[in-house]
Amino acid sequence: MTSPSSGAGRFAPSPSADLHIGNLRTAVLAWLFARSSGRRFLLRVEDLDDRTSREIGERQLADLAAIGVTSDEPVQWQSDHRDRYERVIDQLVEAGMVYECYCSRKDIAQAPRAPHAPQGAYPGTCRDLTEAERDRRRAEIGRPPALRLRTDTFSYTVTDLLHGEYTGLVDDFVIRRGDGVPAYNLVVVIDDAESGIDQVVRGDDLLSSSPRQAYLARLLGYPEPTYAHVPLVLNADGARLAKRDGAVTLAEIGVQRALRRIADSLGYRATDVEGMLAEFDPARLPKQPWIYRPD
Ligand code: GLU
Repeated sequence: MTSPSSGAGRFAPSPSADLHIGNLRTAVLAWLFARSSGRRFLLRVEDLDDRTSREIGERQLADLAAIGVTSDEPVQWQSDHRDRYERVIDQLVEAGMVYECYCSRKDIAQAPRAPHAPQGAYPGTCRDLTEAERDRRRAEIGRPPALRLRTDTFSYTVTDLLHGEYTGLVDDFVIRRGDGVPAYNLVVVIDDAESGIDQVVRGDDLLSSSPRQAYLARLLGYPEPTYAHVPLVLNADGARLAKRDGAVTLAEIGVQRALRRIADSLGYRATDVEGMLAEFDPARLPKQPWIYRPD
């Protein structure tokens, strides 16, 4: 596991709320996976959405630093790289791989599905419109259209260190949202490739998005990363951990106690990340969600 590698791992929080203990645990795991495989470790703040803020992002980075998770290179903020995403979108448009979509969520929910389209796939409503139909729909909706990728498959298989071969849906997914923001599934692929990231460790709520991302990586000529989708942290009711569950952020729990709880949840004796690294064995990671109850 310790052979040197030119690749990198990463943790990429969205600064819409302070990190909770579950996010911190995922960050520790991403750091452990990277370090134990000789990779660099990078942090990226995914702040394109206007529900995110610089202030929360700075606080997330401070919390990560407090538990020993720091970036080997300057932290990237996605809002500094908008031109990078627009360049790729332009390339895809020029290659005819993209089409405008005028559908609202309701349109999509109510649209008839093509017989071969799986459940959950975009029904293809805007895929084959004529120019005249596009002009009409553009004028009708009175807001900018989204852009969708014209894909040629409904599924793609990725390899995940915890889940094995995972096959999931690839539909004509959005690459630029109607509000003009480049979509998560696009930017994550571009940024990982631009930074030489070849190991993606994150919560298993994102497992189902990995086939779309790996498909797009291949389409853009980028190498596909190795994935490890780690179990989420849930509250006592089995729901996603949230603020209302009590003390869940680092400010509320305290650094030492948070590290101890994370180490306990992974079965480690050490309570700092360097010590956890010595005990880390990816094959022995808990496969079940961690149920977190504040002390
Ligand atoms: N920014 C995403 C989130 O906080 C994670 C993106 C990723 O790891 O691919 O949920």
